[in-house]
Amino acid sequence: MEDFKIKSGLEIHQQLDTGKLFCNCPGYLRKDEPDYEVERQLHAVAGEGGKVDVAAEHEAQKKKRFIYQGYYDNCCLVELDEEPPYDIDEGSLKVALQISLLLNCEIIPYTQIMRKTVIDGSNTSGFQRTVLIAENGYLETSEGKVKIESVCLEEDAARIVDKGKGKTVYRLDRLGIPLVEIATAPDITSSKQAKEVALKIGEILRACKVKRGLGTIRQDVNLSIKKGDDQGERIEIKGVQDPKLIEKTLDNEVERQKKLIAQGKSKEEVRNALEDGSTEFLRPLPGAARMYPETDLPLLHINRGLINNAKKDLPKLSSEKKVELEKQGVKGELVKLLTKEDKLSEFKELVNVCNKPNLVAKILTVWVKDVADNTGKNVKDVENKVSIDVVESILQALDDEKISKSEIQQIMEEIVNGKNVEDALDRERVDNLEEEIRKIIKEKPGLNPNAYMGLVMKKFKGKVDGKKAMETINKLLG
Ligand SMILES: [Zn+2]
Repeated sequence: MEDFKIKSGLEIHQQLDTGKLFCNCPGYLRKDEPDYEVERQLHAVAGEGGKVDVAAEHEAQKKKRFIYQGYYDNCCLVELDEEPPYDIDEGSLKVALQISLLLNCEIIPYTQIMRKTVIDGSNTSGFQRTVLIAENGYLETSEGKVKIESVCLEEDAARIVDKGKGKTVYRLDRLGIPLVEIATAPDITSSKQAKEVALKIGEILRACKVKRGLGTIRQDVNLSIKKGDDQGERIEIKGVQDPKLIEKTLDNEVERQKKLIAQGKSKEEVRNALEDGSTEFLRPLPGAARMYPETDLPLLHINRGLINNAKKDLPKLSSEKKVELEKQGVKGELVKLLTKEDKLSEFKELVNVCNKPNLVAKILTVWVKDVADNTGKNVKDVENKVSIDVVESILQALDDEKISKSEIQQIMEEIVNGKNVEDALDRERVDNLEEEIRKIIKEKPGLNPNAYMGLVMKKFKGKVDGKKAMETINKLLG
């Protein structure tokens, strides 16, 4: 028997790692006590179309008080809705343009900043500003092309810090942090494909200047299923935390819908994604009449200059970077570490100085960690002390044969422990290595090369190049 057909689309919200979108406040969250508190009450009002939104009504019925907490240095009058918004932040716009280009979208040259009605109190103004930046893009997946319907830039909402009876406390630090909103067309036909799309979009986002970590990305999935005349209503699932959970969440919802359809009980609604892949009812599906123009701001002109500036340093995806590194001869695990730890620009710079890609990769990734372990410092400290310039000096000394490869870790440790770079690179040398080794062999004849090597290293540790010592031993024994 034919199974139900899935029709699904994704909507992904990602915080950008830039300043706030419509004021000059920095975009970061805080843990300390707020500097001030204001109280507001929100009322559901009819939009310009004259209709009160269904979802707006649902919220207004609850008659809530809203408390807003703010800080002097990352919330201003714009967040409090006491001052009109400033022009859109160009840094945020640039990142949004880069994301749009990587999603193969067409940039919209003249675009209207809009207000989207928000009625849960999470925005002091009662609306969220949003602007359509690009449209008509696509992503390739193993199950075919998925169209990218739109890329929008919007402001994040204030965050809830406390929710009591009839009262909600919001913190304003998050309000105005730029979010990029990516919406795919409902082209996705399986839960596996939904996961693939989420992971691909995730890769693109991480290549750009976006925030990392829990709470900085949110994935919403919409879904309807159909078999012949049996059709389920449209369901929106909000807030799937991990792209890997999308497949399971969708599979569960499809099963739930099948049962509801059989009972004639499927109805459109918004559901909340839970950590175990199940969902719970959140609210009715909001109506469509929720947007109207932001009259405080002029039409946004995304000119050639802005687009070229975004193209000029368009980030590379980690999969592309990997291919490039492999071409340069970097081996397996080091490729992964360099891309994962975001050390590509350092790597490139250093390989230009010293054409030993695997050594450079090893210094930047594995050895930095080993040195941190051996010196009891953290990786950041090691990276600060053994900066790119320092690594460059080390590589230069290696090229000039002043030091040997086997000494590099030791040198890094000495620098981390406070020695200055010049002193650390000025290795004390045994004047006549061959003569010294000849003496050792004469004192204890009949040993094997490794045993002599042990004796040499014991006597001259840090003063001889291991490789050279071994060659000399072999030469003298040979
Ligand atoms: Zn501000």
